[in-house]
Amino acid sequence: MGRLIDRREFLCRAAALGAAAAVIPGVLGEPTGREGATPPAAGDKQVPTPAATKPDAARLFFEFRELRPGVLAVLGRGGDTTLGGNNLLVWRPGLTVGGVLIDARHAWLGPTLRRECAAFNAVNHVINTHHHADHTGGNHAFRDMAPIYMHPNARPRVLGMRDTNVRGLGAGAAAAARVKDAPLDDLLRDLDELKGRAEQLTPEDFAPGDAQLMDKPFEAMRLNEVRVEVLHHGPAHTDNDLIVWLPQVNVLHTGDLVFHGLHAFLDRPGGGTVRGWIKVLDKLGTLGDRDTIVVPGHGEPGDRSMIARQGEYLRGLLEFVEKQRAAGTPRDEIVKMVPEGAGSLGLARVLPVTLGAVYDELSGPVE
Ligand SMILES: [Zn+2]
Repeated sequence: MGRLIDRREFLCRAAALGAAAAVIPGVLGEPTGREGATPPAAGDKQVPTPAATKPDAARLFFEFRELRPGVLAVLGRGGDTTLGGNNLLVWRPGLTVGGVLIDARHAWLGPTLRRECAAFNAVNHVINTHHHADHTGGNHAFRDMAPIYMHPNARPRVLGMRDTNVRGLGAGAAAAARVKDAPLDDLLRDLDELKGRAEQLTPEDFAPGDAQLMDKPFEAMRLNEVRVEVLHHGPAHTDNDLIVWLPQVNVLHTGDLVFHGLHAFLDRPGGGTVRGWIKVLDKLGTLGDRDTIVVPGHGEPGDRSMIARQGEYLRGLLEFVEKQRAAGTPRDEIVKMVPEGAGSLGLARVLPVTLGAVYDELSGPVE
């Protein structure tokens, strides 16, 4: 497990809980639903939040959607899903001490994400839900201003992705231009400036040496007076998925454990497992209530019914591949098939990869 390092503003830490089933808040008396308003800690300045003067949305590259006061989903404009994983920017209304950002998008989007978030509240904590480049590439833009939290299995993988991240900068402008009706001038300036210093970026810029490793199945922190609960229920989409639960505001960021309205990508080389993923979703289903807002890794935010639907999708794929294998269909044919009912989902290009990953998992030893 990872080493523990001093955590700035780390005021509350739950004891590590043994059984995975017991880590769901509420099961063992962990605080769950909305907490009452707790007074700000001494030293936190209570001054009007900068969000009181909202930036001009038309000038922003990203869509900042207010889910609750002090909780913004950062989304691809017009529902665009090509820009990487969804973000959340969270702070305590009334406090300007800074915001907590969940995930960091692609490397080429890091500076723009930082600049646009700062128009609402400067980021001073970043949590990565897992190692994939569209969730961690932008870390380099925040490392001088925020500790970056990730699962211990994520850090070596992120360190190894430096060259891919830097190469990806070249494709940024073209990718941005494909987003409908997005203002590009400021983003292109950010990107030019970044490209000018790309060669100086080191692996540690993406996973700093002092990265705050989330090495327990359940950790509760108070960051800028926001209670942040981070859960890890074992391998699923990858071997380092973190779930971020914000009980005070009843908002859940699932990372890529949920693809909403899209095909789900299973990263077997990254330690993912379809059987594990189904188990994790079953546990997640007990979190929150009918008012919980769920922000998936990809796709539109919604309610928690999307968690059950994601489980059904994965069960469906598992059964489909099991049946085809039993009938003797070879792998290279199975990966070209579209299971019944799955044809209308977006991100169709990931379906063959996931079908292949499920096939390989079924062909391997039973865990
Ligand atoms: Zn992912």
